[in-house]
Amino acid sequence: MSDYLKELIRDVPDFPKPGIVFKDITPLLTDPRGLNEAVQAMADPFVGKVDTVLGIESRGFIFGAPVAIALGVGLALVRKPGKLPSDTAEKTYDLEYGTDTLEIHTDAIPKGGRVLMIDDLLATGGTAAAAVDLVHGLGAEVVGASFLIELGFLPGRGKVEPVPVHSVIRYE
Ligand code: AMP
Repeated sequence: MSDYLKELIRDVPDFPKPGIVFKDITPLLTDPRGLNEAVQAMADPFVGKVDTVLGIESRGFIFGAPVAIALGVGLALVRKPGKLPSDTAEKTYDLEYGTDTLEIHTDAIPKGGRVLMIDDLLATGGTAAAAVDLVHGLGAEVVGASFLIELGFLPGRGKVEPVPVHSVIRYE
């Protein structure tokens, strides 16, 4: 794991609510070397293996577009409800308190397409698992999920598997 990248992640205690240590990626985004190394490290294991990158709203969009360019493929979007203008499929999943919903355009990914999912951070895995379900619902395959940060003390990886999970910075 790159110490250079890890030093660009800022811990913000008690944000957005007490007890959460928020991993703030903005110092990494403003650092030219950090941004470039992060995108390359997220994309590298998947060169030649994917047809589409899927970015998860909203910080997954920041990394999804440059990863797609690095891999020479296009970018599909998973968004919060009511944001996508055309025909959508949706998936509702459980949070600690309540539920959340994600949507995808039904024509975003061709049947049989090989998809790489991108988000900034893997925590409980609920978001990523819901995105995997959306891709499968369109008849496409998820060949990997790539995250800048993995909170290894949470069960996220287990929730996304058997989809292979790749992360650049891991906290134990
Ligand atoms: P989860 O569904 O629990 O894996 O949460 C993943 C989503 O929540 C990601 O899109 C993250 O951006 C965000 N997230 C969860 N926990 C944190 C955290 N400690 N710091 C920053 N973002 C977080």
